[in-house]
Amino acid sequence: MKLVVVGGGFAGVAAAWRGRQLGAEVSLFHARAGASELSSGALDLEPWPTAVRARPLAPELEGFLAAFELEAPASRWVVVATCAGTLRPARGRERALLDLAPFAGQTIAVLDLGRHDFDAEALAQAWSEAAWARSTATRFRAVPLELPGAPSQVSGYDFAQTLAATEQRRALSHAASARLREEAAVLMGPWSTLEPGGDVEWERWLGRPVGETCSPPGGVAGARFERQRARVLEAAGVSVSAREVEALTPEGEVVLVDGERVRADAVVLALGGVVAGGIVLGPPGPEHAGGAAFRLGVRAEAEFELDGVKLDGASTLHGIDFTARGLGALERVGVACQGAALSGHRRVFAAGELRAGEPRTALHAMLSGLRAAQAALDA
Ligand SMILES: Cc1cc2nc3c(=O)[nH]c(=O)nc-3n(C[C@H](O)[C@H](O)[C@H](O)COP(=O)(O)OP(=O)(O)OC[C@H]3O[C@@H](n4cnc5c(N)ncnc54)[C@H](O)[C@@H]3O)c2cc1C
Repeated sequence: MKLVVVGGGFAGVAAAWRGRQLGAEVSLFHARAGASELSSGALDLEPWPTAVRARPLAPELEGFLAAFELEAPASRWVVVATCAGTLRPARGRERALLDLAPFAGQTIAVLDLGRHDFDAEALAQAWSEAAWARSTATRFRAVPLELPGAPSQVSGYDFAQTLAATEQRRALSHAASARLREEAAVLMGPWSTLEPGGDVEWERWLGRPVGETCSPPGGVAGARFERQRARVLEAAGVSVSAREVEALTPEGEVVLVDGERVRADAVVLALGGVVAGGIVLGPPGPEHAGGAAFRLGVRAEAEFELDGVKLDGASTLHGIDFTARGLGALERVGVACQGAALSGHRRVFAAGELRAGEPRTALHAMLSGLRAAQAALDA
């Protein structure tokens, strides 16, 4: 069985990994960064937790989370800090992010390295006043440190690279150890490490748990995702190619932009949404009159749905009415599916943000990728 996965975000990687587990020969194509490279490192199942108790995750998700070195406790929320000064619950996290929940009621040190984009003093104050911190009597204390040779004006990615050098880490650990008091854990900005599994050396040197805040879009969490994607897919034996797919043929072939054709017994489309170019808003095709319409980023038939309603090729003479629907429509639009299959197709399955009517979250993207691969192999 030959499975082709198009898309290298959380959904596509999960589909490819599951396909290999089920014994398929799997090729994965990805073209450019998508939402997974922009995500924060916090892992949600629902857009925002509504239940007081965290529900257990689907069992099939657990194996994939372990392979990707991601954490999601069995039945509780993690609590993560954002660079906007808020604390928020999430269903899981990248290991590099500090889960604050175990330190409820204690003081957490916030390293202040003079970064232009991380006002540790103001953030520590905002986090201390956040609802979770107040209800649990958790405090944050900024710890100013001089780190000669660490530039403050570079991007978080470049700064993380600077900190990866052993002499910098030693210097920082030495300076921090002298300033830390009884703090239970150390919180750093989104530049503590480029290692997807987190950095155990920080913890050894500082003698307590160390982790970072959520990343802003395009921050180190995305870079770590890319590194881990390469490792997980290689370990699973997936053939990976950073090449754009142009079309699917009715005969089941996948056509690449350079014209090469790849035969597939089944295809999982995990193209992402508008942000990844998986869904494109543009002039209607010759078969439709009217204004701009949604189409797939690859040439293949698909029906689109928005808020539970099917969209025809062009909904009005002037296209989609964003005044009425709001710009959030660009996130909510997706392809119509029957189960895991793309509507109207027998051997093409859809996963992740491409699908209509499902949460736009990392854990949901993984789950739908796992399920799409299972359905593809069952078909
Ligand atoms: C700024 C931002 C912050 C977020 N924060 C969070 C958060 O805190 N918590 C959370 O749970 N979720 C968060 N999300 C949502 C989450 O990141 C996404 O729901 C998830 O990553 C979607 O994964 P995906 O695989 O479906 O799509 P994507 O990650 O977008 O992947 C799509 C893939 O398709 C590929 N592709 C597209 N067209 C082609 C083509 N023609 N040929 C080949 N490949 C193609 C792209 O190269 C890409 O690899 C955030 C999203 C964004 C944008």
